[in-house]
Amino acid sequence: MLTLNTLIADAKNFNQPSESVMEVQRVLQICNACRYCEGFCATFQSMTRRLDFNVADVHFMANLCHNCGACLHACQYAPPNEFGVNIPQAMAKVRLETYQTYAWPKQLGSIYQKNGLALTMLTSIAIILFLLSLQTSSTGLFNTNTDANFYAIFPHNSLAMIFGSVFLVMVLALTLGVRGFWRQVSTDPMMLGAAKDATLDMLTLKNLGGGHQQGCNEADDAFSLWRRRFHHMTFYGFLLCFAATSVATLFHYFLGWEAPYSYTSLPVILGTVGGLGLIVGPIGLLCLNLNRHPLHGDAAQKPMDIGFIASLLAISVSGIALLALRHTPLMGILLCVHLGFVMGFFLMMPYGKFAHGIFRSAALLKNAIEVKMGKSVSVGSD
Ligand code: SF4
Ligand code: SF4
Repeated sequence: MLTLNTLIADAKNFNQPSESVMEVQRVLQICNACRYCEGFCATFQSMTRRLDFNVADVHFMANLCHNCGACLHACQYAPPNEFGVNIPQAMAKVRLETYQTYAWPKQLGSIYQKNGLALTMLTSIAIILFLLSLQTSSTGLFNTNTDANFYAIFPHNSLAMIFGSVFLVMVLALTLGVRGFWRQVSTDPMMLGAAKDATLDMLTLKNLGGGHQQGCNEADDAFSLWRRRFHHMTFYGFLLCFAATSVATLFHYFLGWEAPYSYTSLPVILGTVGGLGLIVGPIGLLCLNLNRHPLHGDAAQKPMDIGFIASLLAISVSGIALLALRHTPLMGILLCVHLGFVMGFFLMMPYGKFAHGIFRSAALLKNAIEVKMGKSVSVGSD
C-alpha cells in the first residue's frame, strides 16, 4: 500500500512540469495571444477556453493534437523565427510523456523509451521460435496430415486459454492506464451526448481531414487526405480481423461449427477483407511516416511508430499467407509465425503506439464534454 509520503512525493513530481510540458506552455502562451490558428483544430479551440495551462491541461491538449502539421506551416513564428513555435513537435513530445506517466504498471512505462521496432520484433521472433520448437517436438516441422486444420497442430482450448489470458492482461493494462489519465485531466461529469459526439469523432477520424477537411500537411505545404485514408484502412482492417476472430469463437462455442472454415464463410471473409486493409493501410502510413517533414512530430518516436506499423503488417501478411497456403505442408510453420506476431503485438499493445488510439479517444471525449458544457475562458482549468 502507498504511504502518505509516497503519495505526496508523486503529487509533487506531477506538479513539477517537465521540459516538454514547459515548452508546450511557452508556445501556447504565444498562440493564445496570436490566435491565427484558432479555427484549425480542437486543440486550438480548447486553448481558447483557457488563459493558462497546468500540467493536466497540457497532457489533455497534447493528446487532442493529431500532428497534422497545419499550424506549423501557417505559423509566422515557426523556426527559424526566434520564437521557434513548433506546436506539432512540442505536443508529440508531451504525448509520449503521457503514455509513460500513466502506463500500468508504472515501471513498464520506460518501455516507451526503448527502440519500439527492435523490441516488438524480438518479442515476436522469440515467441515464433518457441512455437516452432513445440510444433517440431509434437508433429514435426512439415505436417501434411492436418487437412488445413490449425487445431491439429495446437489444440483449440490451449490457444484460447493462452491468447485469452494475454488479451485480458492487455485490456487491463490499457484500461488502468487510461483511467489514470482520465482522472488527472478531467473532473467534469460524463455526458451521454458528449460520448456520442466523441464516438463519431473516433469512428470517422474527421479530425484528420484538417480544419477545412482538405487533410494534413505532409512533407510540403500541400494538403493531403492520404493520412486519413490510410488510418481508416488500418483502423477498420483491425476491427474486421477482430470481428473475424470473435465470429469464429461464437461459431465454435455456441453453434458447434469447428474450423477450418471455407473461403466463403463469414469469419474468413471478414478476416480476408480486414487483412487486406491491414496491409494497404500500414504500408501507406509507413511511407507517409518515412517522408514526414523533419519539423513535424518527434523524430525520436519513429522506432516506436515503425515498430507498431511493422507489427501490424507482419500479422496481416502472415495471416493472408496462412490462409492461402493452409492446404500445404507450410501450414504449420506459417501458423507459428502468424500466432507469434499476434502474441507479440498483444504483449506490446499497452506499451507502444497503440496507446495513442486509447489516449486520443479519451482526449476527444473530454473535449466533447467541454464543448457540450459550453465551457468558457478559465485560468488553469480543472
Ligand atoms: S501556431 Fe503560430 S500562427 Fe498559429 S496561433 Fe500559434 S503562434 Fe499563431
Ligand atoms: S498539428 Fe494540427 S492537430 Fe496539432 S495543434 Fe497543429 S493544427 Fe492542431
